[in-house]
Amino acid sequence: MRYPRLIANGKALEYNAKTVVKMCHDMGIELTAVVKVTCGEPRLAKMYLDLGADMIGDSRVENIVKMRNADIKGPFVLLRIPMISEIPDVIENVDVVLVSELSVVSALGKEALRRGKIQKILYMIDVGDLREGVWYENAVDEIVKASKVDGVNLYGIGTNLGCYGGVIPNEENMNLLVNIAKAIKSREVNFRIVSGGNTAALYLLEKNILPNGINGYRLGESIVLGTDVTNNRTFPFLHQDTFTLQSEIVELKTKPSVPHGKIGRDAMGRIPVFEDLGKRLKAIVAIGEQDVPSDGLKPINKGVRVLHASSDHTVLDVTDFKGSLKVGDVLEFRLTYGALLRAMTSSYVYKDWSQL
Ligand SMILES: *Cc1c(COP(=O)(O)O)cnc(C)c1O
Repeated sequence: MRYPRLIANGKALEYNAKTVVKMCHDMGIELTAVVKVTCGEPRLAKMYLDLGADMIGDSRVENIVKMRNADIKGPFVLLRIPMISEIPDVIENVDVVLVSELSVVSALGKEALRRGKIQKILYMIDVGDLREGVWYENAVDEIVKASKVDGVNLYGIGTNLGCYGGVIPNEENMNLLVNIAKAIKSREVNFRIVSGGNTAALYLLEKNILPNGINGYRLGESIVLGTDVTNNRTFPFLHQDTFTLQSEIVELKTKPSVPHGKIGRDAMGRIPVFEDLGKRLKAIVAIGEQDVPSDGLKPINKGVRVLHASSDHTVLDVTDFKGSLKVGDVLEFRLTYGALLRAMTSSYVYKDWSQL
């Protein structure tokens, strides 16, 4: 067995996906299941589609190409507004692309026509989070213009909250989106989908306070981890034991809890802070900041505390661990969204999808 190892819990992921698909479909909402945190894992995408997800979303064209090459049929949504330089790949591989610039829409239309295709677009509107999208006050005119561009078809409009500015989706900003949709439609421009958001907006469905007129969601974190980082909560009706990270102990020694010597900065340029608890039993596991941010590691084994990490070593306080430990033993962790993202992206972490 090789470590570090990241194991996907098939049953928990399946349960979460099923639950979220049903929540959306019961309310007449089209679900784009988002796999970007797994770098576009084809087995996960296949499971989501088999369980009824309407589309698969990813932020990287490369991941969509990978899934297509693995015979995943899609349809695929590209979640990051595209670079001009990747437009040919978008036209060839992406069913619906999020956009926020008229110049990009024109370039998409031109390339689509050149290839004998029509590209579906979902125009993003910024209702306050300050990431992608036309500012809501200018949205109607800009989107009406986009809808007239040859070679593209306006599939929908949408917004994204929570991810950048941390703005929480609520009835007010969702109503803003619904009213923009109405204003565009009153100008004889039709489209199918008003895409209300991501995991941070899921509580609006849960509480049944989502304004009428929102009929699309794009959900990743809630399915993959059962958490909602923007609202700082876990979903009580979803599983959080969806992934397990295993890491092997390479050193186990009793040492002081405060470094000996004058303290400068650590490998990452941070000034580490240490609490003096006297001598403690410390374990070094063979994983580091290159593979996972240490503050996103949540030990499953009781009595284990993550102290700090450099690029390849993570130091744990295992003094309170009940039972015996030795070099070569494996400790287990759950991960935050940010930690899962980096672990998935690290080629030094072995991924085990065999349960799916
Ligand atoms: C990542 C992303 C999502 C999914 O977000 P989650 O918080 O993981 O549910 C939705 N929409 C866009 C535009 C994204 O980039």
